[in-house]
Amino acid sequence: MQTRYLKSFRVIISLFFLVVSTLIFIDFRNSFSEGFISSFLFLQFAPSVVKVLQVAGLSALGFLVILLLTMLFGRVYCSTICPLGIFQDVVSWLSVKLRRKKWPYRYAKPHTVLRYSLLGLTVVFMLFGSILILSLLDPYSNFGRFVTYFGKPVALGLNNWVAPMLVSGGVYTLYPVTLPAIRWEVMLFPLLMLVLVVWLSLKYGRLYCNTVCPVGTLLGYLSRFSLLQIYIDEQACSKCGRCDRVCKSSCMSFRDGSVDFSRCVACYNCLKICPDNAVKYSARHGRKISLIDKDYLPSPEKIDVTAKPAENPVVDDSKRSFILTSLLVFFGINRFARAGTDDIPEPEQDTTIPEKKNYPVSPPGSVSLKHFNSACTACTLCVGVCPTHVLQPSLLEYGVGGFLQPHMDFHAGFCNFDCTSCGEVCPTGAILPLSVDDKHVAQIGVVKFERENCVVYTDNTSCGACSEHCPTRACDMVPYIGELTIPEVDESTCIGCGACEYICPTRPYRAIYVDGNPIHKTAERPKTERVEQEVDYEDFPF
Ligand code: SF4
Ligand code: SF4
Ligand code: SF4
Repeated sequence: MQTRYLKSFRVIISLFFLVVSTLIFIDFRNSFSEGFISSFLFLQFAPSVVKVLQVAGLSALGFLVILLLTMLFGRVYCSTICPLGIFQDVVSWLSVKLRRKKWPYRYAKPHTVLRYSLLGLTVVFMLFGSILILSLLDPYSNFGRFVTYFGKPVALGLNNWVAPMLVSGGVYTLYPVTLPAIRWEVMLFPLLMLVLVVWLSLKYGRLYCNTVCPVGTLLGYLSRFSLLQIYIDEQACSKCGRCDRVCKSSCMSFRDGSVDFSRCVACYNCLKICPDNAVKYSARHGRKISLIDKDYLPSPEKIDVTAKPAENPVVDDSKRSFILTSLLVFFGINRFARAGTDDIPEPEQDTTIPEKKNYPVSPPGSVSLKHFNSACTACTLCVGVCPTHVLQPSLLEYGVGGFLQPHMDFHAGFCNFDCTSCGEVCPTGAILPLSVDDKHVAQIGVVKFERENCVVYTDNTSCGACSEHCPTRACDMVPYIGELTIPEVDESTCIGCGACEYICPTRPYRAIYVDGNPIHKTAERPKTERVEQEVDYEDFPF
C-alpha cells in the first residue's frame, strides 16, 4: 500500500471505533449485547492492564495486543482505537474547518517533565493499591464519562423530542425514555476535563495525549523503539514545511528533518501532505532517529491547566424551578420514578432516627470494597447498562480514592434479582461476571430495620411494601397489633438488593435499609420460592 493512503485507512478505522464506542455508552435501549460490549472493549489499554492485575485469562490480554501493535507501528492505539484521541481529532478537524485555517500547527518542544511525572504518579499510586490517578486521567474512562454525563442526556432529549412526533405519524420505532438525575457534584470533574480536552485540542491538537495522558506517555516511550517509524528523507525534502504544519502532535521539524516519534500519534497527515514524497514510514534499522528537540521555534504559549470550566449548568436542589422541571421532562430524567405506588401509605410525619450505614454497597460481583476500589476506573459503562439505575457515580462514599466509582444508591433504584449485566460488561474486572444462580445468593450487604421509623409503628397503619418486594423473603411481615403486621428481617437470606430500601415510603430516613458488606458473602438460599413477576422499570421495581 502506498503510505499516502494510510491516512484514509486510519480515518475509516478510527471513525468506526469512535462511533461504536459512543453508541455503547449512549445505548439507552440496550441494543448491544453484553458479549459484544465486552469484546469490543477488549483492546482498551488501561482497562485491560487493570483487568490483568485482577484476573488471569485471555479476556484480560488486550493490552498485549496494543503493546505488540505499538512495537510494530508506533502509537496506532492513539490514532485509531482510543475514543478520546479520536474525539480530539474530530474537535480539531471541526475547528480547522470553522476557522478555515489550513495549516494550524507547528513544531513545539515536548513537556517531558510533566508527562513522565504524571505517568510516574499513576504507577506509584497503582503500586500502593490506588487507581485514583489512572481513573482521573485514563482516556477511555474520561471518554465514557463525557458521553454518559453529557452526550447521553442530549441523545435522550432528542429521542424524547422526536418520539412523540413519529408516534403521531404512526411510526413507533422510538419511544420516550427516562434517565435518573445524576448529582451535579459528580459532574464537576468530568465537566472540567471536557473543557480542558476540548480547549487543548482546539488550540494544540493532541497536546492532552502528549502531556497528560499516562497511556499516551507509556506507548510514546515504547514507540521510540518501534519497527516502523516516520522520518524525513532530507535528500528528497524541499523544506516546504507542510508536514510541520499538519502535524497535530507538533512533533515534526522540517527544518532539521527530525521527528519526535514518542509524540507521533500515527495520524499519517504528514505522509499524505508531502508533495516531494520525502516523509517516509519504514523500518528504522540502520537509520539515525533524532529525538533531540531543537529550540529554534518558540514553545507554545503557557497553558493554563487551571482554567475554570463554564459555570455548572445544573441547578442546585434548593432552587428547583419550573424551568428545571421542564428540562428534566425534556431529558426524561426520572425524579419521580416511584410513580405507581398508590397503595403504599404516605407517612404522617418525618422520621427522626438516621440510617446507620457503616459501609457503602459495591455492585454484585465486585468481591469486596478493596477489590472494587483498586480496579474500577470509573468509566461509567456499568452505570449505563444498569436497567434500574441503582448504580450511581459516587462522590466520597468510598472515600477520596473511590472518587466517581459507582456505588449502589438504593434511593435511586434497586438491584434486579435476575440481572448480571454490570459484571458482564465491566472491562477492568472491578465487577466480575456472576451466573444468575450465583447472583441469587451474592450478599453485597445486609438489611437493617429501624422499627421506630416504620409507618406501621408511627402511624398504626398497614404497609408491608418492603416485604412485598423482597425477592428472597428476607423481610417478612409478622403479627403486630390487631390486624396489623410489621416487618421482621432475616440477615442470613438477605442479599442486599435494596428493593426494600427503595420502596420504603418513610422520609428523610428509611425504616429499612441496606448496610454494605466490605467483603461480599454468600447468603442462604430463600426458604420459599419467589413469585416471578413482570417488571416495568419505568414505573416500579418489580
Ligand atoms: S465497575 Fe463500572 S465504572 Fe468501574 S470500570 Fe467497571 S464498568 Fe467501568
Ligand atoms: S446486577 Fe444489579 S447493579 Fe448490576 S446492572 Fe443489574 S441491576 Fe444494576
Ligand atoms: S419498613 Fe417496610 S413496612 Fe415499614 S414503612 Fe418501610 S416499607 Fe413500609
